[in-house]
Amino acid sequence: MSPPSAPRVRVLLVEDEESFIEALTVGLAHEGFEVDVARDGAEGLARFAARRPDLILLDLMLPKMNGLDVCRTIRETSDVPIIVVSAKGEEVDTVLLLELGADDYVTKPYRLRELVARMRAVLRRREHTVAWVEDEPIQRGPFRLDIDAHRCYVGDREVKLRKKEFALLQLLLENPGRVLTRDVLIDRVWGSDYVGDTKTLDVHIKRLRALLEENPKEPRYITTVRGVGYRFEVNAA
Ligand code: CA
Repeated sequence: MSPPSAPRVRVLLVEDEESFIEALTVGLAHEGFEVDVARDGAEGLARFAARRPDLILLDLMLPKMNGLDVCRTIRETSDVPIIVVSAKGEEVDTVLLLELGADDYVTKPYRLRELVARMRAVLRRREHTVAWVEDEPIQRGPFRLDIDAHRCYVGDREVKLRKKEFALLQLLLENPGRVLTRDVLIDRVWGSDYVGDTKTLDVHIKRLRALLEENPKEPRYITTVRGVGYRFEVNAA
């Protein structure tokens, strides 16, 4: 629990069920959080933009705009910690959720104590991540990305990448060994900027391979997972 002098963590609760709103508003205030409430997805986005909370508790099934779309939209501009709350029995694609940028998820009904523990864990982790991203370049095998300076190196050689190529490579390097689906890559790199046909992603991957792979026709690092997406091979690096 925060000492009385610490600034209160501001939480945006996006939730349409009154019983949860009441219980959480009271419970979280008691735990030292400042709680702001939005009762549908559109209001959630508006209040997020207006208030810039420290953490978002996001229900999935919401009027006007569902939680997935709210999460996706917020991630276009912000790394604010997001914990998704789903109803019991609701089918949730947790992999998609995490790839969309949610930090964690809980299923109703949950204990307040468990939720608060997860909130604190996410906040701690996020503080750590932000500090890490600001200070340290990403290094995987021969590849180094200096995020702040927007520079990419293979060994000692600098490779000039365009903005979207850089973002795409960053996403792959941040998820070594994991398949990133086409939808997730398009969503995270282009978001609503993505126009044209689905070839745009492949064209960018092809260019990355041409710049980074010894033999772009038989890539070792950025491999294709057929019918799914792409993966940065952790073992090749
Ligand atoms: Ca709901």
